[in-house]
Amino acid sequence: NPETTFSELATLDWREQDFSYAQLKAHLPRPAVNSQTAAEAVGQIIDDVRAHGMQALKDLALRFDHVELEHTRVAQAELDRALEELDPQVRAALEESIARAREFAAAQVPSDAVVGYSNGGSVTQRWVPVRRVGLYAPGGLAVYPSSVIMNAVPAQAAGVASLALASPPQKEFGGLPHPTILAAAKLLGITEVHAMGGAQAVAAFAYGVEAPGDPRGGIEPVDVVSGPGNVFVATAKRLVKGVVGIDAEAGPTEIAILADSTANPGFVAADMISQAEHDENAAAVLVTDSSELAAQVRAELEVQVAATKHSQRVRTALGGSQSGIILVRDVAQGIDVCNAYAAEHLEIMTAQSAQDAARITAAGAIFVGDFAPVSLGDYCAGSNHVLPTSGTALHASGLNVNTFLKAIQVISYDKAALGDVAAHVINLANAEDLPAHGDAVAIRKAI
Ligand code: NAD
Repeated sequence: NPETTFSELATLDWREQDFSYAQLKAHLPRPAVNSQTAAEAVGQIIDDVRAHGMQALKDLALRFDHVELEHTRVAQAELDRALEELDPQVRAALEESIARAREFAAAQVPSDAVVGYSNGGSVTQRWVPVRRVGLYAPGGLAVYPSSVIMNAVPAQAAGVASLALASPPQKEFGGLPHPTILAAAKLLGITEVHAMGGAQAVAAFAYGVEAPGDPRGGIEPVDVVSGPGNVFVATAKRLVKGVVGIDAEAGPTEIAILADSTANPGFVAADMISQAEHDENAAAVLVTDSSELAAQVRAELEVQVAATKHSQRVRTALGGSQSGIILVRDVAQGIDVCNAYAAEHLEIMTAQSAQDAARITAAGAIFVGDFAPVSLGDYCAGSNHVLPTSGTALHASGLNVNTFLKAIQVISYDKAALGDVAAHVINLANAEDLPAHGDAVAIRKAI
């Protein structure tokens, strides 16, 4: 029945295709607006913050958030008030989310690695937290108190001493970040919160903002900026990477679903919609070897999209170049497609979900089976929801304790231990035509 077909979603029929890996990557659905296309506008915002500091943050808040800011810093009394006024059910949900995330983060803390060599020589890899981090919780189309948790919990588990949080100022809340964001910060013990959003927040954290003579202070630069955001936030993180560390490019959300004829089409459609409601640039991609399932999912989408609150945004996201149904010959080809796409979120709903999940080599996070929807991971699974997008899961990881740690290798050799390898050092130094390296060993008379 054509009336029950969701026509916005494109179909790519790859059942007869034998793409090489490079061709596959080139043909995958991707958004029209990405970190390359947004780079010029974002670069200007970053330059503006570097040149004009707090004044630029005020001007950009007016331009993008329609708010007249006095200062970015949120007073402690506002954090206290937000928690006092928080809906008890939301508080209980935040507390459950925090408890589960803390348990998983604590389990991730790595141990030092130590190796001893002959005569007492040893090397140790010691994990040290970065000193200060800037955490970003989005607040444009939706507000994300859950992202405060996802950022702060691993940073705290890593032992970071100084945490600052940014979230966009909200017009309806007098230019403060959303009260649930402030309440989540208070629950987590974060005391430094700034009303700033988008690329300008990332720039302010990366370069710092001076505010001479202002008792509220400026913004001290951080070592790592983490957190999710729209394409402007993700692009800003890409541009400041190197000046500071970043977690990953965690931009507009993506869901890929690998499903066969055993999947429940209602679940598949609901999960595609749940991610499409984040952003017009969000991506939802169904990879399936069943044209029957594809037709059933379209019929479900037609009904469910019409009934959902953010139906217009969902239609735009599902109708964009970044979304679609990819028909494959079999699940094995589907796995190849998913590994090249490297989705932020990958759901597997096949007859052998766990076995198929084990063959995935690139994804921000994998959700296995019928009862692990992405929304579970967004809030309460215990896993982190700040995950790499735009194919960066080929090399990047979701936010975790390691994001906030550095490994320092410590070398301890005494005279006898150095003596064991001194000749080798000298010979290698000479082979590289760097004899002074050898002299630095010889002078110790360890040989
Ligand atoms: P946001 O806080 O990311 O962005 C809002 C800010 O964007 C505004 O304050 C403004 O400064 C800036 N902005 C808006 N339009 C602009 C323009 N034209 N030019 C420059 N800057 C502009 O909030 P949002 O928009 O609701 O987006 C949240 C995003 O976070 C969604 O895309 C969602 O999918 C994503 N997300 C990603 C993950 C992940 O881990 N990848 C997790 C959660 C959410």
